[in-house]
Amino acid sequence: MIPSSIQRTIHISLTALIYLLLIQIPNRLVLGRRLPRVHVFSFATNGKIFRKLKFLSNKKRGDKDRQEGTAHNFTTKTRGGSYVTSLRASNKNEIGDDEQQEDSISITKNMYVSPMIENELHMNESIEDHCDNSKMELMVYADPYDDRTLELWGLNVDRNKFVAYVNYILQDRPVMDYRGRKRRSFDSSFVTVSSLKVDNEAVRSQLRLIWKDARLITEKTDVLAMYQSDVIHNHDMKTSTKRGGFADMIAVYTDRLISILKEEKEDDKHHKQFLLDWMRKEYGIEETNSLSFENIRLTSENNQLQTLQHFLSFFRATFPYYHDRCVHCGKSTYDEPPTGNEGTEGGHFVGYVYPSQAERNGKATRTELYLCKHCNKFTRFPRYNSVADILEQKRGRCGEYAMLLFRFMRCLGYESRWVVDWSDHLWVEVLLPLGSNGLTRWVHLDPCEAVVNEPLLYESWGKKQTYIMAFQASKSDRGNMNMTAIEDVTKFYTSDNQNEINKRRGEEEHDIQSAIEHERFRLVEQSRKISDN
Ligand SMILES: [Zn+2]
Repeated sequence: MIPSSIQRTIHISLTALIYLLLIQIPNRLVLGRRLPRVHVFSFATNGKIFRKLKFLSNKKRGDKDRQEGTAHNFTTKTRGGSYVTSLRASNKNEIGDDEQQEDSISITKNMYVSPMIENELHMNESIEDHCDNSKMELMVYADPYDDRTLELWGLNVDRNKFVAYVNYILQDRPVMDYRGRKRRSFDSSFVTVSSLKVDNEAVRSQLRLIWKDARLITEKTDVLAMYQSDVIHNHDMKTSTKRGGFADMIAVYTDRLISILKEEKEDDKHHKQFLLDWMRKEYGIEETNSLSFENIRLTSENNQLQTLQHFLSFFRATFPYYHDRCVHCGKSTYDEPPTGNEGTEGGHFVGYVYPSQAERNGKATRTELYLCKHCNKFTRFPRYNSVADILEQKRGRCGEYAMLLFRFMRCLGYESRWVVDWSDHLWVEVLLPLGSNGLTRWVHLDPCEAVVNEPLLYESWGKKQTYIMAFQASKSDRGNMNMTAIEDVTKFYTSDNQNEINKRRGEEEHDIQSAIEHERFRLVEQSRKISDN
């Protein structure tokens, strides 16, 4: 018997030889065409190469795809042939067969395919259902000249933005031509466009890997998010929730609050008064004292609201709302007079990319990329989740600033709630005594608008609120766990009655309540763990 390692070597050598004889030598010597460097290894290390070529030249291959689930092929045209990037995913579990759940996906990168075989390929052939909306446009820039196989992906971004992204990556990366000589800029012939079904968890998990490899730009990150329903779906058939529905989102926000509490605990360990010291220095010692809960609770209601308003005005001036201000020339589309076609151009925004290591240290999970129309330079806007980075950078939106304000109010001694509106806004509430009869009430604080106690503000913006949830974890120790709660506060922020709210929600009241209960239990358990640590 020949050992398998030798078999493998023979196999690789034979593959390389056949490749040279059949493809490279005829093209170079006989036809006089120059070919780009081809990735012999991606051929040879894949033992299934012959089957693959056979598979590609098999006209009936479409049938096989449909049996296995979904498959997608993209071709990149180059001189003398095409590169084929094939993304295959299969996780269908048809009733009848064994219980076996196949959840596999493979990407065959940049296989060189001669024009003859290319004729057998049809883009998008295997996309079965043409009328569902779970498909997204996918662009792939596959650079055949790059030794490391530069391959960049664009998920649901328009072509101009994808080109901007490819140029952004290329600017820091010298790319050679096929002779290994001059640096080459963007070449649109390496871009392929296809559509991709994203309702398949196997496809999404593959996209997630490419995203974390910093090779993907997307207009929205929902598709890449890992929701509770993605994890439990296969095991718990009782869940009727749709992906990204209420149960998924409330779990995401509960996790977010838990990580805020964890960071608070860590900060307290290292430097207990860290935020208070910052406030005394920046806001003033006297102002900070009069804002503390101990002092404000003794004053009149009018004075309470005025003191809070004074602080929020300072807050907004110190932490301005970030739109798209260029870090190079300082310009923003929001400085310019409206032209009437905003929205169609989308400002300077290119898309979301995976954060760099430094950005991930500030707990950023995604970074926005901007291309300035004035100076043609790129700006990154990492969405930091760590208080220290937000304090230092002073670049944020309601997400960053609601979290920061929530932490400020807690360190000033307030019982506080972190409030999330599903229609993409966040703010804070604090508990204030009302008069001297022992009654209390929650008061609304919006850090981006510098607004105190105007709960109907958002409705006046024309928002149709579906879910607004207040998350609270009592800062006082274990005795006060009944203060840890998640409350549906939608009705306080709209003048619509509950029936109208329910109609907009389109989910069963019972499911909503049980999801809230489930997350509340988890929050109580987790915050107990955090305070015990
Ligand atoms: Zn600029």
